[in-house]
Amino acid sequence: MKIAQVIVDVSTYAVNRPFDYALNEDAPYVEIGSRVKVPFGRRDVIGYVVGLKEDTDVDSAKLKLISEVVDYRPALTEELVELAQHLAHHTICYEIDALQAMLPAAMRTSYERLVVATVPLEQLSPALRDIFESSLTQSFDSLTPVQQKLCKDAALVGEVEFQTSMKQQTTIKTERVLHIPSLERLRQIEGELSNRAHKQKQLLAYLMNYPNEALVEKVVREEADVAGPTIQTFVTAGYIERSEREVYREIDASQMAYDEKLALTTEQQRAFEAVRDAIDASRAETFLLHGITGSGKTEVYLQAIERVLERGEQAIVLVPEIALTPQMTARFKGRFGDKVAVMHSALSQGEKYDEWRKIRRGEVSVVVGARSAIFAPFTNLGLLILDEEHESTYKQEDVPRYHARDVAIWRGNYHQCPVLLGSATPALESFARAQKGVYTLLSMTERPKQSALPEVSVVDMREELRTGNRSMYSHALIQAIRERMERGEQIVLFLNRRGFASFMLCRDCGTTMQCPHCDISLTYHRSVERLKCHYCNYETYVPPKCPHCESESMRFFGTGTQKAEVELKKVIPDISVIRMDVDTTSRKGAHEKLLSAFGRGEAQVLLGTQMIAKGLDFPNITLVGVLAADSSLHLADFRASERTFQLLTQVSGRAGRAHLQGEVIVQTYAPEHYSIQLAKQQQYIPFYNVEMQMRKRFGYPPMFYIVALQLSHASLEKVIHYANQTARFLRQALDDSFIIVGPAPSLISRVNDRYRYQCLIKYKAENNLFDVLHQLMHMYRTKWMKEHLRLSIQMEPQSL
Ligand code: ADP
Ligand code: ZN
Ligand code: ZN
Repeated sequence: MKIAQVIVDVSTYAVNRPFDYALNEDAPYVEIGSRVKVPFGRRDVIGYVVGLKEDTDVDSAKLKLISEVVDYRPALTEELVELAQHLAHHTICYEIDALQAMLPAAMRTSYERLVVATVPLEQLSPALRDIFESSLTQSFDSLTPVQQKLCKDAALVGEVEFQTSMKQQTTIKTERVLHIPSLERLRQIEGELSNRAHKQKQLLAYLMNYPNEALVEKVVREEADVAGPTIQTFVTAGYIERSEREVYREIDASQMAYDEKLALTTEQQRAFEAVRDAIDASRAETFLLHGITGSGKTEVYLQAIERVLERGEQAIVLVPEIALTPQMTARFKGRFGDKVAVMHSALSQGEKYDEWRKIRRGEVSVVVGARSAIFAPFTNLGLLILDEEHESTYKQEDVPRYHARDVAIWRGNYHQCPVLLGSATPALESFARAQKGVYTLLSMTERPKQSALPEVSVVDMREELRTGNRSMYSHALIQAIRERMERGEQIVLFLNRRGFASFMLCRDCGTTMQCPHCDISLTYHRSVERLKCHYCNYETYVPPKCPHCESESMRFFGTGTQKAEVELKKVIPDISVIRMDVDTTSRKGAHEKLLSAFGRGEAQVLLGTQMIAKGLDFPNITLVGVLAADSSLHLADFRASERTFQLLTQVSGRAGRAHLQGEVIVQTYAPEHYSIQLAKQQQYIPFYNVEMQMRKRFGYPPMFYIVALQLSHASLEKVIHYANQTARFLRQALDDSFIIVGPAPSLISRVNDRYRYQCLIKYKAENNLFDVLHQLMHMYRTKWMKEHLRLSIQMEPQSL
């Protein structure tokens, strides 16, 4: 008998192991990685085959059969199933969550949580009636936090209950194909047609040109100029046969201009040869390519990939989401044509699914994509590349909380192939590993195009204040903007992250408008005239008076992008600005549209948050202004200096790309800070040395590894209780080589009406850490969760 071990799609602790199912004799194509439907409890659920064996301990009376095999070709490979086990262990999550994360959304089973009113509408409270007025079942996730809470509370008194429904989408696009008979048969048909059937004759005349061929129905309709019913008549009469076949959705087909291979510079050649040797030797070696902005890292990637393809192997290239522009992917498609698949979030679910299938079927050999493309189901990998390897977006914040760099190295080991990490400002962790010899360091310090690095000047905003300038713009910056406008050149203005959006404050009593559910100020959104919470999405109207003292002097403070635009227009009224931030880019494709409008010269200024720091390569930009360079320095985050340095280096690197000389003006209240001074001089290694001293002094990565445990509960008392219990458990279970910090309130100590506490574990060697964390998780899942506690474990957090 054949037995399949199946991980079922049910995320609870009791189910977090494979279950045995018997295989029907006539289901020969079940392999490791196959998706199957199996009976579980009272229903059928989707599961993944993670093992095959000949016998089982399960009682033959109880052993159930697999109900259905979902895909002909297994959705996952054996390698990815093994990787899922590894991720579940090392990121402390359910194996099913790791398995699901590897598939495009269209293939995931999605469970929608529904709230269902179980009593007549009249018996519901008015607030609940609002929710259920239009329909007695509602999607839980579409409700506001306040409404969700109402439903949950009501569930306790039995008015509303939660139900789960499963919907699975498979979105294969198909087209109809017509099979045309032989010429002989077509002539025969001609005799059968009535003389008055003009349209049918017209169709037949057209088909005469294509005997024995298969034609796309849509094309036939257009070219023969006939309608559907005419074709249907032919099909019904048995003159032609009709079938359906699968097609891929086409994405940016316009971007296929051939991209010429460049002659490498000496530095590029040296880097390329090192990687090529590892490719040729099938060696699992990790390279860190440290090359300044504009040093031509992409050309090294391209030529290394070319080598991989010559060997009949495959390559994965990861690029941060915001840098994954059509210009970027065009370079890869221009070089490797339709051997390239693209995976990023701007694609529709169907498009992603199509790209994924091309990979799974081996129809492409290169994938260029954002973080999750690291799971591309290639079976013969020859190289994995992470461009901008320092980017924090390579770490997934939600379950499974993996880092794409770690996954790349794991896969490189599995396939015995090299991993290439590239950056102008490597993560401290990566550079430290290169220093230790764990990674092989490759350096590129010159720009092949000889374009000079831009001139960078730092403006001390404290000095501006002293001379009475209270605006966000220094005199120097305004002056420089005016000069560019006169010359018809373009300007980029850059604001550090949205946390600095404007908030409301009463000038008389000092009251700020806070979110009622979170420990954070509400943000003013000018476009909709509303106050919003960026943590829980609560929103409200702008109060005409201070709710505390009734004074009318409520004012907006802070330097959000909207405010930056308004202030700029106050000083230079005729300036044209394109603003890019979360508000203007939330709709699909908006990001691209705004950028290309700016590229066409439709505005003088592009103003935005960090999303404009990358992927920008317009020749007419000659000035970059950084409005508040130090704003991330004030965040209580051990990576703050590193982030500031990276951002300033990136931004400065952008300005000097074109033939026009670029200038960067950095405004800051901390001009003497080393991250600003050293970024100004593009000095990575001195920055690395200073920052390592700081990390050592305060015991942060890469000196120590960190695990952050976050607990939350609606009751402050309860969360403190469990946080203490957690810390006590950790101190008991782990030896002295581990440092347990806390518990302490999280930086944002309340979100969505839940109080938040955290504990940190710092360590150098993992010893029994993973066992202990799994024990803790088990305790949480079996006991604490019932008490409505939430616990999340974050390995190597990107910020604290
Ligand atoms: P990076 O990714 O390191 O910031 P890019 O790969 O974008 O740099 O290269 C910067 C510019 O230099 C690009 O316009 C690229 O076409 C050009 N370039 C790269 N390598 C060469 C070369 N060997 N010869 C001439 N130009 C090159
Ligand atoms: Zn909130
Ligand atoms: Zn007031």
